[in-house]
Amino acid sequence: MSREQQAVACARRAFETGRSLCLDHRIRQLKSLKRLFTERQKEISDALMKDLNKSVVGTELYETLGLESEINLTVSKLKEWAAPRPVEKNLVTISDTIYIKPEPLGVVLIIGSWNYPWAVTIKPLIGAIAAGNAAVIKPSEVCVHTAKVMEDLLPLYIDKELYPVVTGGVVETQELLRQRFDHIFYTGNSLVGKAIMEAASKFLTPVTLELGGKSPCYIDKNCDLTIACRRITWGKYTNCGQTCIAPDYVLCDPSIQERVIEEIRKAIKDFYTENPKTCADYGRIINQRHFKRIKAMMDDSTVALGGDNDEANCYIAPTILRDVKPEAKVMQEEIFGPLLPILPVSDLDEAIRFIKKREKPLALYIFSSDNEVIQKMLSSTSSGAMVANDCLIHYSVSSLPFGGVGNSGMGCYHGKFTFDQLSHLRSCLIKKLKMEGINSMRYPPHTAKKLSR
Ligand code: NAD
Repeated sequence: MSREQQAVACARRAFETGRSLCLDHRIRQLKSLKRLFTERQKEISDALMKDLNKSVVGTELYETLGLESEINLTVSKLKEWAAPRPVEKNLVTISDTIYIKPEPLGVVLIIGSWNYPWAVTIKPLIGAIAAGNAAVIKPSEVCVHTAKVMEDLLPLYIDKELYPVVTGGVVETQELLRQRFDHIFYTGNSLVGKAIMEAASKFLTPVTLELGGKSPCYIDKNCDLTIACRRITWGKYTNCGQTCIAPDYVLCDPSIQERVIEEIRKAIKDFYTENPKTCADYGRIINQRHFKRIKAMMDDSTVALGGDNDEANCYIAPTILRDVKPEAKVMQEEIFGPLLPILPVSDLDEAIRFIKKREKPLALYIFSSDNEVIQKMLSSTSSGAMVANDCLIHYSVSSLPFGGVGNSGMGCYHGKFTFDQLSHLRSCLIKKLKMEGINSMRYPPHTAKKLSR
């Protein structure tokens, strides 16, 4: 048996003992998982510093605090979420007991990506534990140090038979994908997302695909550009642009392009100093392969700001590209790095046409003081999420479903949505063996008299 087969068999055996069904067991696991984030903050932070140059505060803000509050919410609501949910009855079933009973799916495979490795791997795990599943956890091999910390620490805090960790790269993930799961929860790029879905189809395993793509950001002339550009600067350059919901490119009227560049320049200086390379809050590209990919995207566009880089350090300065053409390299795939292309468009209608011609994005951002403009963008387009006058912040709202549509993904999670996503919502109808008289209408012979109203 391969290591991957062993992990799946171990999780399956542990699931079949039935211990994950117990709500108290789930709550104990979640509380213990939360302790990992307080007791092991330093190991988590040191590894993320090595992987992505994430600062200590950045690690707390963007990785662990959100997980702790997700656990708090889940622990406080679990009894309510897991309870039978009574539903409306119809006339024929009026005296029956009818409800939806959430039940665990079984063994879930969680495949994480590297950009916010704790957030994207552990958030689904919180829901998997809460819903009573076993889970095989596959951290991304790309964040080398964090994957090792996860492999070492998780078994010290949570039931290592119910929730085994499997490390490794593509080969190991493919071996996992040959096994039978009851759900696969994948976070990563859309190309691999297709391979995941194909592998899942062998056993008709349901999938949640948290993918990426190019999230547009439209800036209306009618808006406070200083504030808009500060928010966009934060959304774009946090984690060095390696954020699935980062604004990928800006669409705006040609008359405001220079102001936008100037305001973003000022915000970059405020946030990351004159020299972002020496600023503790500015990250690094994850590895040389991605560094080369991002650097090459600048080739055929005009750099308005930044552009300097250092391969040995995986450093690319916060960069703005001006007057970018739709055919430019930077517009052909998700950037996932600190380049912000600006594409001039004549008006809102052209921006809408531009967005609609492309794949449905994970997030769509619009900056405007005019509610009609915001509503028109909202009603004319589709995306995983739409945010007006801010970036990224919807991720923190656990009452909003987080996920993509079309090429940006399928299924959603966060808060109760994760619990429901990783549960089977079983329809239950319990009738008594009495009152047979009222059933006579549905039994043959079907005479016209039975239908007379
Ligand atoms: P990655 O390279 O870490 O891959 C993700 C996982 O897939 C890893 O665990 C890896 O082992 C596995 N994998 C890679 N290639 C594989 C293959 N050929 N077959 C089977 N498994 C394979 O991460 P990535 O894809 O570079 O992540 C970045 C992408 O993820 C971006 O597109 C980003 O937008 C997206 N993302 C989405 C979300 C979201 O919540 N929607 C969050 C973070 C990242």
